[in-house]
Amino acid sequence: MAYQSTNPYDGKVLERFTELDGAQLEARLALAASCFTTWRTTSFAERRTVLARAATLMRERRDEFATLITLEMGKLIDQSRGEVELSAAILDYYANNAEEFLATEKLPVKTGEAIVESAPVGVLFGVEPWNYPYYQIVRFAAPNLMAGNVVMVKHASNVPQCARAFEQLMAEAGAPAGAYTNLYISKDQVSQVIDDPRIKGVALTGSEGAGAIVAARAGQNLKKTTMELGGSDAFIVLEDADLDEAVKQGVIGRMGNAGQACTASKRFIVVESLADRFLAQFMAALAAFKPGDPIDPKTNLGPLSSQEALDKLLDQVKRAVAAGAKAVVGGERADVPGAFMQPTILTDIDKTNPAYKEEFFGPVALFFRVADEAAAIALANDSPYGLGGSVFTKDIERGKRVASQIDTGMVFINKPNITTPDLPFGGVKNSGYGRELSRAGIQEFVNKKLIRVE
Ligand code: NAP
Repeated sequence: MAYQSTNPYDGKVLERFTELDGAQLEARLALAASCFTTWRTTSFAERRTVLARAATLMRERRDEFATLITLEMGKLIDQSRGEVELSAAILDYYANNAEEFLATEKLPVKTGEAIVESAPVGVLFGVEPWNYPYYQIVRFAAPNLMAGNVVMVKHASNVPQCARAFEQLMAEAGAPAGAYTNLYISKDQVSQVIDDPRIKGVALTGSEGAGAIVAARAGQNLKKTTMELGGSDAFIVLEDADLDEAVKQGVIGRMGNAGQACTASKRFIVVESLADRFLAQFMAALAAFKPGDPIDPKTNLGPLSSQEALDKLLDQVKRAVAAGAKAVVGGERADVPGAFMQPTILTDIDKTNPAYKEEFFGPVALFFRVADEAAAIALANDSPYGLGGSVFTKDIERGKRVASQIDTGMVFINKPNITTPDLPFGGVKNSGYGRELSRAGIQEFVNKKLIRVE
């Protein structure tokens, strides 16, 4: 798809962008490679100044950055503001902690000295999605710039204004030319960039399909990758849960960002004794959402990111219902212009239903009732994905025991997935590999170099 900014609320095309030609792409690659030769020698203090300034600028112009998100992909304006604040917090977090995270380590040896340095590896390439247009790129760029790497980003084709705004932000914050580069490039050019010997590592956040293609290409070139892919997180409600709180958190977990989060709560797995009451309250809560203009702070249901995203979700719901699922709430596009989906709950999904294994990227909850804790764990794990998940119980120790048995990268007790700069983020199985954020996120693309003195 060509780079184009379209408001999914009213379908208006806001701006069109031209893809880079071969010479322009080559010039950017050359500049990034040349920038690395000096950026790698800068001190942590110099890098910190750039990232801290970028964080300050983001906060100062929060509404300007937030409005672009809302216009390009339909996020509710308050949530867009929250994303800008979170992105600034990640910039500050790595500005303040990178030096400690990458400190040279002395190993205990019988003779002489053994030290392990964390050296930068070079120019990195990120392929990023539209659902959190700044947060996704900051998770990749902030730790790597602090580590002394330089980064190039191919952002999703439907958020080119956010992509440009972030590149301009980094330049304004004092990043040297080539340290952060936005690339409006085609999929063929993505392959070309991955193949380029100046690129030393590749990170992708997006769908399994794109992840498999990009990881395979990087693999052919023996380049390290991290993959942050899709999810179908379980939201387990055990019989001793606080029901009202579970429903409240379930609504937040499913409806945030109009349901378009990799770690959204997608499969609601409720123990039989609470199932009817949970479902009744959850249905009432989802049915109460009303579509509106996402730029209006009073709106609680924004559009999906694009008409194509809506069509895909409607098709998934249609196929699920054809295979025996019941839409007990919603199930259709909302009866207004724009890319709006009705909040939807599907029940009666058996193992043969395609919905059982698919990710629903929008406000569609899958509801399952199970006999007990063991059945809840088994169902949670019967998924190709392994990103996040939640367990609701008043007994925290029990919650932790259940969490230990769930095959995902993250499990939250009595909360949906919540991301903060200091907590590791990532998954297992088809949800990908590697970690972003926290101390772990800055270790992915550094050379752990041993220096030994006998
Ligand atoms: P997507 O289609 O995979 O797009 C993500 C990025 O990959 C975009 O920049 C896209 O570019 C690019 N891309 C797609 N196909 C490609 C190909 N064949 N070669 C090279 N680049 C390619 O994902 P999406 O549907 O927009 O995003 C939603 C998915 O991302 C969901 O599955 C969600 O769960 C996942 N996600 C995961 C995380 C995580 O941290 N685990 C976070 C957010 C989202 P174009 O826009 O130009 O197509």
